[in-house]
Amino acid sequence: MVFNPKIRLLESNLVNQIAAGEVIERPAAVIKELVENSIDAGSTKIEVIIRDGGRTLIVVQDNGSGMSLENLELCVERHATSKLPDGDLFNINSLGFRGEALPSIGAVSRLTISTRSKESKDTGWQLAIAGGEKSAPTPVSHPIGTRIEVKDLFYATPARLKFLKTATTELSHSVDYLNRLAMAHPHIEFSLKDGERQVFHYPGLTKEDFNKRIEAILGKDFVQNSCVVQAQREGMSVSGITSLPTLNRSNATDQYLFVNNRPVKDKLLNGAVRAAYQDLLPGNRYPMLVLFVHISPEEVDINVHPAKAEVRFRDSGLVRGLLIASLKSALNQSAHETSSLIASSAIASFRSPVVGFPAPSAHTGTPSSSFKQSSFPQKASYPVIRQLSTYAMPDIEPEEINQATNEEPEQYRLGIAHAQIHSTYIIAETNESLIIVDQHAAHERLVYERFKAELADHGVSSQALLLPEVINLSTDEFQSITLHLEELKDFGLIIESFGNNAILVREIPALLEKVNTASLVRDLAHEINELGNTLSLKENLNEILSTMACHNSIRAGRKLSLLEMNALLRQMEQTPYSGQCNHGRPTYVELKRNEIEKLFGRR
Ligand code: ADP
Ligand code: MG
Repeated sequence: MVFNPKIRLLESNLVNQIAAGEVIERPAAVIKELVENSIDAGSTKIEVIIRDGGRTLIVVQDNGSGMSLENLELCVERHATSKLPDGDLFNINSLGFRGEALPSIGAVSRLTISTRSKESKDTGWQLAIAGGEKSAPTPVSHPIGTRIEVKDLFYATPARLKFLKTATTELSHSVDYLNRLAMAHPHIEFSLKDGERQVFHYPGLTKEDFNKRIEAILGKDFVQNSCVVQAQREGMSVSGITSLPTLNRSNATDQYLFVNNRPVKDKLLNGAVRAAYQDLLPGNRYPMLVLFVHISPEEVDINVHPAKAEVRFRDSGLVRGLLIASLKSALNQSAHETSSLIASSAIASFRSPVVGFPAPSAHTGTPSSSFKQSSFPQKASYPVIRQLSTYAMPDIEPEEINQATNEEPEQYRLGIAHAQIHSTYIIAETNESLIIVDQHAAHERLVYERFKAELADHGVSSQALLLPEVINLSTDEFQSITLHLEELKDFGLIIESFGNNAILVREIPALLEKVNTASLVRDLAHEINELGNTLSLKENLNEILSTMACHNSIRAGRKLSLLEMNALLRQMEQTPYSGQCNHGRPTYVELKRNEIEKLFGRR
């Protein structure tokens, strides 16, 4: 390349295209910018229509202030805004302020703006701009308000066009953005159409009914299983609702966080939520929440990123502290206290394995005759876990139980099971130690390994549900699932679209009998959504399988017979890495005899 020392100013259209690269990443970003403008214009009704995920058409129509002819001509100019009247960047009360959105959109698409303000008595005006070329405004008849139509997005920047995902994926991004804006402005009526199909319609609400917007977006379950958060400190406040720890998700998409009513995705705030729940939820589960942080505009910088999703606080420690404290106090009031100090110091002396056992072939122990030999494969094959549930409690004769407990513990690495406590933990004895197994975590690992083997072999085997189950999903969940129906078959899930955000589940993985199908499907939808909806499921094997394995049949809280317990222990010994579940938590802890003696002051 020849080095050309002459510096020139870029033409404005090029500058706008460069800005578009930052502000307009995808159709959802266009929708966000246009709807934010409509909100700033004081609208009480905002309708959005898109086609092909927004690639060919996006229309945003509002009943807000509208624009005068003079403003219409200016609004597509770069850095033209009506929102910084006194030029004070540190006191921003509107969603927009950079004056970049309309010129950026106009530089990369065919944009038509039709508008009429209250003041203009006679007529409205229309202005078109395509690929940055502006045409003269013409009079049109138009109600008070503004209608913005964006056709052929990115036609002027083909490189960006190539990065668009499928229409369904782009739609789901738009739904997410819109839901966040709709959550923060419940008094505004919002609707979204995908072509002719109504994706959602949220009526405008009065203050007393604001919870209905939360219900419409995140569901009744959430509102019913959550607690109210409310706190104030030094000119700052936090309010909203947050889910009880028992209602949780496999990712953070259902966390709606707002700073001064602006939806944000902010690491500091997410970290505070995580910290507040850390004793109550495992690291891979996320609460659902809707939280509004209000803080004086001078205390927060929202001009960190062109899309304004990130914010910076002047005193971030204060914000974090208040958020954690308010969430914790809300949760404590719901009687979800964490374990006491005494218990945790005793647990500290329990040893948990870092990894599991060597590969199954290393196991040499032979079971004694009182065990049903066929159920405890000694070869390096994956044990048939489904057999576990065939050992139902009533089938066990009293002698069998005695025989089971008379086993010689030294034969087995995990010893002999003696009891189950809290329907969750198996207590086993080896010659040298006491072992406590988390039955759900352990079984999760076994099922996961079995899934992997099945998938590598012929695909996960499925079994038909006696009654196919209809499940109502949210728009997002529905998109994620229906996008992958073909692929889900390989994972043993036979699902059909049932219209109107509902699906019909016909078959589920055979290993997952007695599973709660609805929660399995929802968790999968969230996992798929988190993975970005784009990669094939096979490329995310581990995530998908472990989400499924987590729904295995031996949930915590299920009573097991001694035979079932021992079968589980033997299978753990056969399974690689069975010392930890798929989420890195231990499946069992071991207390050595000398450690027990220490606990009782014998040493
Ligand atoms: P910003 O929102 O940062 O000011 P935009 O490029 O998004 O920049 O919009 C430029 C200006 O156009 C706005 O400041 C506003 O005055 C006007 N405008 C845009 N959309 C609307 C609308 N829907 N209703 C009324 N005025 C609008
Ligand atoms: Mg704007």
